[in-house]
Amino acid sequence: IFPGSVDTAGQRATLGVLGGGQLGRMFVHAAQRLGYFTAVLDPDAQSPAGLVSHHHIQTAYDDPAGLAQLAQLCQAITTEFENVPAQALQTLAQTRAVAPGAAVVGIAQNRIEEKAHFTACADISGVTCAPYTVIETPAQLQDVLANRADLLPGILKTARMGYDGKGQVRVKTVEELGAAWAELGGVACVLEKMLPLTAECSVLVARGWDGQVVSFAPQRNVHVDGILAVTHAYEGNMPPALATRSREAAVAIAQHLGYVGVLCVEFFVVDDGSAHGGLVVNEMAPRPHNSGHYTLDACDASQFDLQVHAMAGLPLPQPRQHSAAIMLNLLGEVWLDASGQRREPDWQAVLSLPGTHLHLYGKEHARIGRKMGHLTITGPDVDSVKTVARRAAGWLG
Ligand code: ADP
Ligand code: MG
Repeated sequence: IFPGSVDTAGQRATLGVLGGGQLGRMFVHAAQRLGYFTAVLDPDAQSPAGLVSHHHIQTAYDDPAGLAQLAQLCQAITTEFENVPAQALQTLAQTRAVAPGAAVVGIAQNRIEEKAHFTACADISGVTCAPYTVIETPAQLQDVLANRADLLPGILKTARMGYDGKGQVRVKTVEELGAAWAELGGVACVLEKMLPLTAECSVLVARGWDGQVVSFAPQRNVHVDGILAVTHAYEGNMPPALATRSREAAVAIAQHLGYVGVLCVEFFVVDDGSAHGGLVVNEMAPRPHNSGHYTLDACDASQFDLQVHAMAGLPLPQPRQHSAAIMLNLLGEVWLDASGQRREPDWQAVLSLPGTHLHLYGKEHARIGRKMGHLTITGPDVDSVKTVARRAAGWLG
């Protein structure tokens, strides 16, 4: 699909995205830079991506008329939100190029299938997931209560619809486990052993229709209350042996899935007594990822550029990071004072610092934990970036 092309019927080359959140917005920006028209399907009239797209189809993700309109407008379609019904991608794929495909999105949407996939390709990826078991029925719960004390303390996670730490309960005892499953509504879950994490990292991989693969170096991520807070992206952000292993593992996982598009694989680094610690695969997101936002400002091709290239069948450039970077997520609390009143952050002060790149997603209402924007700090070396990041974080409270 050639950027900027117009077909014989006068239709502009158009790329579509299911979901209108900030990831969709940054995708739209990247597509438009290459001259594509864009279409966003999202029910929210004020969705961050819908606000900046040529077309905004305002229907539910599974609305047949909305999906038909998206297919009619676009030559290729992607998703920015992993809880979009895989069935919608399936329907679109009957007539249009869809990347990633419904099958792989379906796997990533379900922790049970996701862990089965990680286990199935452990031989080629060289990494396993945390010890876990599946709880889907009361009988399975009873069995786990009686026989799997080895998984405690653990985390009970719903198989579907979890994000930003939602749908998870930490449990120490069998009594707490029984109560937690009831609290989660008795839905399909995985119980995962709580691991002694020393760090977390993620790797972004992009794979094309022809199997070409490129990847970014792993970024180190710091979560607070289950939500990404800070991403460290620079040489030396983690031990070199772990960086190499996680990057190779993520590529192997994408290849084993026959994946097309941008995939983010999250890893835990655990203290296993070895020199660098052990690497454990946590989960994957079938789309660009919050931990890859620094690529917009610190790399010569961003994760969103690669998503555009992959879905449109353009060559995938191997991205080169040209600056050290730290990304700070800007959650709703930055806009709220101690009494919960809205306040404007002191952008004047923050933006006077060198190498600061502010990205706001156009969301009107600030709520605790809501992702409103992010700030990437770039610089020639790690020390200067860290200094600016500390000062910026100070200004932002
Ligand atoms: P989400 O879909 O909400 O991102 P995750 O499974 O990635 O769910 O869990 C969110 C965070 O909770 C992780 O980034 C990590 O900090 C912590 N966490 C999750 N599972 C474990 C575990 N088995 N051991 C220790 N910490 C965990
Ligand atoms: Mg996660």
